[in-house]
Amino acid sequence: MLSHLFSKAEEIVFTATTVLGYDELAEKETDSLKQLFYDGWGSAVAECGHTWLRNQIKTKLAGTGVCVTFPWCPGQHEVDIRLQKELFALLKPEDIGITLSSSFMMHPQKSVSSFIGICHDVEMETLRACDFCGLRETCPTAYA
Ligand code: SF4
Repeated sequence: MLSHLFSKAEEIVFTATTVLGYDELAEKETDSLKQLFYDGWGSAVAECGHTWLRNQIKTKLAGTGVCVTFPWCPGQHEVDIRLQKELFALLKPEDIGITLSSSFMMHPQKSVSSFIGICHDVEMETLRACDFCGLRETCPTAYA
């Protein structure tokens, strides 16, 4: 899938964003309702940061005629989680406090890593995970 997605990419951007201090905050909380809140809040903040980063790339490249693909995250949408190893080796997210476990999980938990293609093919910008998913005909949240 990634080879198809990035076959026309002129560049591939590696990204990593995180919510620093999340794990320490969540671990010391004993109230289950607050734990639930922190979990949802942490995920939302991490996703917002990741979306902001992609939008920054799009803004920076606006007017140059290039397109920015959907971000493809290791471990999601059939992107092999083992690609974390290459992403970490090249990007070194440890510099901003993100570490990788032997099972390719990131710490802090609320971290997002991804590959984003830069290309001149408009079609590539519109491709989503649902385009590759066998469940899309029946999935209630397809293309949501
Ligand atoms: S069709 Fe549904 S299950 Fe498949 S990627 Fe899209 S949202 Fe996820």
